[in-house]
This record gives sequence, C-alpha cells and structure tokens, in this order.
Amino acid sequence: MSIRSIDSRSHRRQHQALLLLLALLALWVTAACGGGDDDGGATTGTGVKVVATTTQIGALTREVAGGEVELTVLLSAGADAHDYEPSPKAVAQIKDARVVLVNGIGLDAWLDNVISGAGAERVVVVTDGIAIRGADAGQGGGVGDPHVWHDPENVKVMVDNIAAALSEADPEKAATFQGNGDAYKAKLDAVDAQVRALIDSIPAENRKIVTNHDSFGYFFDRYGIEYAGAIIPGTSKDAQPSAKELANLTDLIKREGVKAIFAEEEVDPKVARQLAADTGVAIVTGLYADSLGAPGSGAETVDGMLLSNATKIAEALR
Ligand SMILES: [Zn+2]
Repeated sequence: MSIRSIDSRSHRRQHQALLLLLALLALWVTAACGGGDDDGGATTGTGVKVVATTTQIGALTREVAGGEVELTVLLSAGADAHDYEPSPKAVAQIKDARVVLVNGIGLDAWLDNVISGAGAERVVVVTDGIAIRGADAGQGGGVGDPHVWHDPENVKVMVDNIAAALSEADPEKAATFQGNGDAYKAKLDAVDAQVRALIDSIPAENRKIVTNHDSFGYFFDRYGIEYAGAIIPGTSKDAQPSAKELANLTDLIKREGVKAIFAEEEVDPKVARQLAADTGVAIVTGLYADSLGAPGSGAETVDGMLLSNATKIAEALR
C-alpha cells in the first residue's frame, strides 16, 4: 500500500467525520429553530408589529395583511395550541406588539398571564361574533368549543375582525386590508361550495365517524356529518381514555355502524389505531385539526386545510 493511498484514506475518514459533525450540527440547529415551544414566533412582512397566536390566525392575518404588517406567528405547524409555553423571546415579541390577535374560547388562555404581566397595546379576540358550540352545555370548562376554524362562515368572521384590528392599528392601509379580506372571504365561499360537494358525494348512511380528539364539531355541524364519539373525551388533548371508555367506544362503533376513525395530524394515533384494529373499521390519518399544515403541505392556509380534510373524509367514507 502506498503512502499516498493511506493518506487519502485517512483524509476520507476525516472528511466523513466532518460530514457527520455537520449533519449533527444541522440536526441540532433544526431542532433548536423548529421546536416551536422553545422559540419565538416566525416573523414576516413590514409595518406595525402584530402577533398572532395560532397557525390559523397567522395564516388569515397573512391573507389580510399581504405583507403590510410585521407579523409574528407564535405557534408553528403541528404545535399543541392547547398547551403552549411561550419562550422568553415569544414573551418579548408579545410585549413589543401593537396588536395581539388571539383565538380566545380558552384555546390560548396561556397568553393571559403574559398579557396581564406587562401587556401589548391591544389584544383582539378574533372569534368575537361567532356562535360558539357547547358554550351553554358547559363543555371544556364552560367556555365552549374553540375549534371554530372548521366552518368557513366562522372563518369569514375572523377575517373581518382581523381586517378591522389591522385597520385600526394602521388606518392608512385600511383600504388594502379591507380589499384583501374581501377577496379571501370570496375564496372561502368557493371552498365552502367545494367542501359541500365533496361531503354530499358520501352516501348519507356513511356520514358517521369517530375522531381521536373532539375538534371537528363545527365542520360536522355545517356539512351534516354525524359525530358518534371522541376517543379523547372533551376538547382537551390531555385526557387519555380509560379501558372502560375504550370498551364503550368499541361498542358504539359497532352498534352505530361507524365507517371510519379519524386520527388528527397532531395527536398520537396509537389509541385510534388500536380501536380501528379492534373494530375492523378504517382509520384515516393526516387530518388537520388544531394546527394548519407545514409550508408546502397544501394545508398551510385555512382554505387549503378545509379542502384537504374534506377530501380525505370523502375518500374514506364514499
Ligand atoms: Zn383541539
């Protein structure tokens, strides 16, 4: 073996070690930046500083603002909106904002402490004016079902509230915000019609489902799908079903002739898979419930999310 080949081999080994190190470093950086919870929110655009809590409010604000505000969205795709711990950077972003756009209805209650501490100038609950499901029944601690974005009519109310809040913060751009908002509402009407056509393509007797987290109520109400039960009772993700609850659910699925179990993108589908195996019904994964999809998924917009869910539901139940 020549000296040169030994050299080149050791060089190659060094090179491989360096590549490995770089790969690990890349992983570490990705983890540090993509973690959501430990991180401040992602910021885009220029103008008055606006913070949105959830991915849905972030996406709607992007539509209304069209880059004409400096928008920070706290939650990243897939993060748990029910149980979010704002990082020091996120707290600073909230305090620095002119407007903070929140979902309310108990979903982003984690923000309350941050705001009461040393608040942003103005907090706007973008779901104001929406008829809340279960508010009377005392569901989820008496505040009702926060997952309003699964009904396009509710989303249009959110768009109007966002446009009004941005217009008040920056009156010179009010016409732009209003125009963008109106255009997006027209798009939502078109998507609403598409979703309805998809759901109407399902035989009526098949429109019966179980999900792993009780968050599609607004969708089911609007499009006439019968909701037979949730694997996780209530609207919080913290709860795990007991053996008895699972047995009851298995009975219910068989008795009611439920066609499919829907597992959300953000929830561990382990229990749903077990239930599907026990009952022999189909399991549908990849529905976007609490979070929009990652960029490039096609579900990173509210309209895209609605259409993606409707397509998967129609394919499973037809
Ligand atoms: Zn939820």
